[in-house]
Amino acid sequence: MIQLKGIAAAPGIRVGPAHKFGKEEFTVPRNEIREDEIPINIQLFEEALIKTRKEIMELQKRIGSDMGQEEALIFDAHLLVLEDRMLIEEVISRLKKEKLNVACIFSEVLKKYTSVFSNIEDEYLKERIVDINDVGRRILRNLLGKERKAFSELKEKVVVVAHDISPSDTAAMHKKKVLAFVTDIGGKTSHTAIMAKSLEIPAVVGIEGATAMIHPDDVLIVDGSMGVVIINPDQQTLENYRREEQKFAGVLQKFLTAKDLPAVTRDGKTVQIYANIELPDEVPSVKLHGAKGIGLYRTEFFYMNRRDLPTEEEHYQEYKYVAQEMKPDPVVIRTLDLGGDKFLSQFAIPQEMQPFLGWRAIRFCLARPEIFKVQLRAILRASVHGKLKLMYPMISGVEELRQANTILDQAKKELEDKGLSYDKDMQVGTMIEVPSAALTADILAKETDFFSIGTNDLIQYSLAVDRVNEKVAYLYEPAHPAVLRMIKNIITAGHKEKIKVAMCGEMAGEPGLVLILLGMGLDEFSIPPQVIPELKYIIRSITMKQVEEIAEKASTLSTAKEVNNYSQDKLREILK
Ligand code: PEP
Ligand code: MG
Repeated sequence: MIQLKGIAAAPGIRVGPAHKFGKEEFTVPRNEIREDEIPINIQLFEEALIKTRKEIMELQKRIGSDMGQEEALIFDAHLLVLEDRMLIEEVISRLKKEKLNVACIFSEVLKKYTSVFSNIEDEYLKERIVDINDVGRRILRNLLGKERKAFSELKEKVVVVAHDISPSDTAAMHKKKVLAFVTDIGGKTSHTAIMAKSLEIPAVVGIEGATAMIHPDDVLIVDGSMGVVIINPDQQTLENYRREEQKFAGVLQKFLTAKDLPAVTRDGKTVQIYANIELPDEVPSVKLHGAKGIGLYRTEFFYMNRRDLPTEEEHYQEYKYVAQEMKPDPVVIRTLDLGGDKFLSQFAIPQEMQPFLGWRAIRFCLARPEIFKVQLRAILRASVHGKLKLMYPMISGVEELRQANTILDQAKKELEDKGLSYDKDMQVGTMIEVPSAALTADILAKETDFFSIGTNDLIQYSLAVDRVNEKVAYLYEPAHPAVLRMIKNIITAGHKEKIKVAMCGEMAGEPGLVLILLGMGLDEFSIPPQVIPELKYIIRSITMKQVEEIAEKASTLSTAKEVNNYSQDKLREILK
């Protein structure tokens, strides 16, 4: 029995067999071959092509019946790659000339193809890299005799163990098949962790060496609440954890009793509690947990796990559905926030040294207005079906806000020209998640309808701590006095201009800190749906006077540790 400690990323306890999920980095051997080995290498290549063709056709058939014919059509492009004479002939002629094993030759040809295509300006051709890479990797996998299973193909329920899991892989996880996951790297507010919470898949991230220590089919206990993983536990430990698992479910049940009660303090102040979602499928969970609206809809997940960009109509149908389902409660749609730790296969975005400081979110949208406007028009059109609000991510100053609003005005004009209607009073808000925006909140407040504080990013930027890097996770401190001062500044600036100030980062769901945020005057909390009942329970237990005093005292403390200890003590006192 071995116990590993990592970062608690998504709560819950699960027990199950380990399933290794590879990073798909192939080590391709490079061996010289003899003249008489050329025919067998050509034969291996042909067999790999046939096997790949069979796999793709099976996949196409399954996707066709599961998701529809249109989705299955994308595999036609894959089949075409397999028939590309130029590619096949180049592999065979280089094989004869260079006399190296076929996997090595094929991987060199593949690299050459992808680099040629990525330098082409044409968008359509650029997109073909994704197909070529995808098929190329399949061929390579078959040449090397490797297997990669999709989550949906898993036969039994497993604990996924990986070096890292991307947010899009997480989004593709099958809740029925994936019990929990464990990774070598990652942080508490990485989008992988956020996604896991939404899908209610317990997760422990940032265990250095987890993939080296865990072997396939080891029995694992994953405690996503404490950040602990136990490999091959003894009978006693297993029983203890099974009891804990039941207790956890029991506590959740208890909080759930508060879910439909209003979030009102004991002295009568109503606090707005909204939910964060990544996918429209989460709407039932939002309602189940008693949210009075959606305060953050992270739309970028709609662009993931697909080969093309969503059309305006697809966006529209998606937002219309969420607006109608939540009506009359509000839904805040955040415009595309790609980049950082979220990448989309449709764009060949060059690798950056510091992606969180790079070409992401609103910066990307302002540079590509033709892509941005598709989403804006769809949001506007959907606004007539409910109470939609829109907000921009990563605004660093008022110029960016103005530029975004100019594009929004163009989108409105385009709809008007076509005679299409939209809600003329739709509110347009600004996420405050960059320190420069926090410090100029007084300027921004004059030109926006509401603020939503994105603490996940605000903390990483103001404390200079990468939110996905487990090595510096100990410095990632929502309770740091610098963070608290910034939040206070944003709330004061917003209220001076009479606009509402919300928070949609994970900090808004940290029970102890909620007391301080309430005391600072935060108007709205948007959190993962599962946390809502607990937050309501806390709000219903306090008075405003109590929390104002707590916030006041917290502002005099010097370290995050002092703030955490103090707020936890107060919480225990209040909840008895
Ligand atoms: C944030 O940064 O706090 C936020 C809510 O946005 P995201 O986590 O998607 O970056
Ligand atoms: Mg953010």
